[in-house]
Formats: sequence, C-alpha cells, structure tokens
Amino acid sequence: MVCPESNADSFWGYRHALPLFGKKATFPPLGLLTVAAMIPSRHSVTLVDMNVRRLAAADVQRADVVFVSAMTVHRESFREVVALCNDLGVPVVAGGPYPSTCYRDIEGVDHFIVNEAEETLASFLRDFEEGSAKSLYCAQDAPELSSTPAPRYDLIDVSDYLNLALQFTRGCPYDCDFCEITAMFGRRIRAKADAQFLAELEVVYRTGYRGTIFIVDDNFIGSPGRSASVLQAIANWQQQRAYPFSFMTQVSVDLGTRDELMDLMKEANFSLVFVGLESPFDESLRLTRKHQNLRADMLCSVRLMQAKGLVVMGGFIVGFDTDPPAIFDMQIEFITSAAIPIAMAGMLVATRGTPLHSRLEQEGRLTGDFSGDPILLMEPNFVPRMPLDVLQKGYARIIDELYAPDSYYGRCLELLARLPKVPINRRDPSSLAKTRRRAFVIRAFLRLAFSAGGLQFLRYIRAAAKINPANLPVSFLFALQGRHFMRLRREFLRRHASRPR
Ligand code: SF4
Repeated sequence: MVCPESNADSFWGYRHALPLFGKKATFPPLGLLTVAAMIPSRHSVTLVDMNVRRLAAADVQRADVVFVSAMTVHRESFREVVALCNDLGVPVVAGGPYPSTCYRDIEGVDHFIVNEAEETLASFLRDFEEGSAKSLYCAQDAPELSSTPAPRYDLIDVSDYLNLALQFTRGCPYDCDFCEITAMFGRRIRAKADAQFLAELEVVYRTGYRGTIFIVDDNFIGSPGRSASVLQAIANWQQQRAYPFSFMTQVSVDLGTRDELMDLMKEANFSLVFVGLESPFDESLRLTRKHQNLRADMLCSVRLMQAKGLVVMGGFIVGFDTDPPAIFDMQIEFITSAAIPIAMAGMLVATRGTPLHSRLEQEGRLTGDFSGDPILLMEPNFVPRMPLDVLQKGYARIIDELYAPDSYYGRCLELLARLPKVPINRRDPSSLAKTRRRAFVIRAFLRLAFSAGGLQFLRYIRAAAKINPANLPVSFLFALQGRHFMRLRREFLRRHASRPR
C-alpha cells in the first residue's frame, strides 16, 4: 500500500513546523490503514507513506499488487507512483477521493476501487486471485460502518506522526454546494457503534502513542444524538486511563448553540475544532447553501466554543459569485474579531461531483479541473464573477495580513484571553512540561527565538504567560504552528509577486 506525497505547500502538511516537532508527517494515511485491515490475513501487507519515506523500486518489485489511495493534494505524486508501478510491471489498484471522482481521466491504473471499499474489496481480491479482476469496482451503496475494521496501526511507526487519526462517522446532513463530502458519503450520517469506536481507541492506546487524535469525520456532530452517546463513552474511557489522548475534529457551526455537546466534548478531552465558517457575507452563505451558518450569529457561536475551552480553527472561502469588492476586508475583520489564529482561507474551487461544479459547467464557466490544495491556490478552476486580478490581489492580501507575525500572534493572545483559565487539555498529553519533552521544548524555543521573527515570538510568549499561564503549553504550540503559516505566507507572496501580470 502506498500513500503518495502531499503537495509541498499544503496548509495541513505543516512542512515548516514538523522539524520543530521532530515529526515526519502530520497525519497517518487512515484510509489505507483501514483498507489494509479488510484484507484477509493470508495476504501479507506492507505500507509505505511517502510523506515519511521514499518509495523504492524494491518496495514495488516485492509486491504482487500495489494499492494507492489519493486525494487531490496527492495528484502529482500519485502519477509518479503509477508510472513506477507501470515501469516495473506491477499491477496498480487505485482508490480514495481523487481516483473515485476522476477515474475516467486517470491512465496507467489497472483496477479502480471507486467510492467506499467495504463492499467491493472482497470481490476484487477474489477476482484478482482468480486472474479475472475487472478494471472497475464501483460501490453503489453507502455501507454501514458496523463491519468496518479498526485501522492497522501496526503497519506504521506511530512516532513518525504529529497526530494519529480515527473515524467515527461518514456523511453530513448539510448540503453546501461546493462540498464533495455529501457527493462522496451522502447526507445520512453513518456512525460506528460506541463500543466499536472504543475498541479503535484501544488499538491506538496499545501502540504506546499518547497525544492528539484527529477524529476525521467531516461533521462530528452531524447526528448530535450519536455524538453525545459516543462522547459519554469516550469520557468514561479516558477517565479510567487518566486521559491519554486529547482530540480534535471537524464540526458545523451549530456546535456553539449545543451547550450539552460542548460540555461532553470537554469531558472527553476535546481541545480543538475545525469549523467551516466560509464567509461573513450572508448573501454568499445563502448562495452556497450554507444555511446552517445563517441560523445563528457565527461570531457569537465561535466565542461560545472558545469560552468552553475549544480552540476554533476556521475554513474561509473567497470567490463566490455574490462576493462584494469589500469581501477581503470583511474576511480579515471577521477572522480577527473571532480570534481564530489558524484560518484556512482559500479561493472557491469547483470539485467534480458537487452541485457547484454542475452549475458552473451548465453556465459554461469551468476552465479546468481543480488539482491540489485550495489553500494558497491563485487560479480558481472557473471564470469568477469578480475580475480575476481583483480576486487574486484581494486573496493575496488576506494571506499577507493574516499571517504577518504581529497579526497572527495578536489573534493567539486574544484567543488565550477568551479560553478558560484552566488547561484546555485535562491532562495535557501534548504537555510541553513533560520531562521527556523538555529537550524538545528547549530546542524548539531556541530555534523560534533565534530565527526571523524571534523578537515577536519572545514578546508573544511573555504576554501569553501573563494572560493565561494555565495554557502556556498550548501558547507555545500556537507559536510552533505559526512558524509554518508565516513561512508559507512568505513563499506565497514571493510567488505571487513574481507572477506575470
Ligand atoms: S457542513 Fe461541511 S461537510 Fe457538511 S456539507 Fe457543508 S461543507 Fe460539507
């Protein structure tokens, strides 16, 4: 099994911060680890994550068949893996979001497993063993997750990763027009049983890993009742083991109006949520069918989450047809008032299979396929209503202003002032005070203090210690993450400045 390398500039990739953490990649390839667990034990499986190490020809030559799973951020590397397998004459099976949406245009792949693999993998394996495998295995229905096995964490070295990952649900009840999640997983929430999820926590626990687990659900609170039930179970499990993990996940903004769920999340030791806020401009939210963001005041919802001790990361988009010329200032102002240090601001892109893609296709406005990471992308794959150069300049200004050191640290300090005066992690598993991490802290501190922006960092950490001493470890983590975004900003602006006008 091969996980291709992510686009070097990916926001989530933390390329500029990983060396400070002493890690090689941000998240493990959960999809492949899960598919690996579905393969009967008579087959031997090995996994190469190219974000951790190089794929050698010998890895491919040793295999009867190579499975590659890819998202669009892996596109370039995916092509290289397929080409290598073709050169070496080893059959390639491709699955995951990118092959599932674009398989008609992908060359060199022998077999596609399109959509979720639970239903089709067994037929493929049987046919492959009999020498009669077809080129396409396409799941028609969304499977229940009750039979989904726990991921094969034994296939990787967990110490290579900054965070580990698990999944509780698939699907999202909402219908945002740019989102491929509902096209891929549907609007019905399919959840694992509480006991099944706890068994997966045990699998991770037995690896010896202690730290943050990303629950990768696209909307963890898509079924509030199921979320409440599993949160209670996680809280009990965590308490019995003295809180070995903290959690982060993705939620819709209505979490801010669900007091009980937020309390349960804190009981279970959740510390960070990613929220698709998208736009402070109501007309654009309406156009993109993000109605849930119009039901309550978004700023107020974010503050309620922060007051509970949840750090909010936000997704933001510019380039909607209804966006006014002032949208760039509106976004900057909103993100600053909301005290969101890590704001994933990107241009709107139309992904295949989404209602947005169909609409733009009908209107004859598509200019190509979206490839890569929508963050830091300067070319939408459609003709925007706003003149392209205005959109590009405005977007570049958002990145420039948000990730200038003073602006980034300013949002961190405001957030720290809003968080409760108790540690946001119950027994902060990523606690920088832990003895075994002391050397890492000293090294990272010195690197931040003696690199560009060192003075701003020192001023920030002093202010953070005064504002909210209970959360000094997390203040330091913000600084480490900030280094990645500040460097991305520098590279992005340099690239943008050298673009032909
Ligand atoms: S709430 Fe998020 S996951 Fe759900 S449809 Fe909208 S963008 Fe997609």
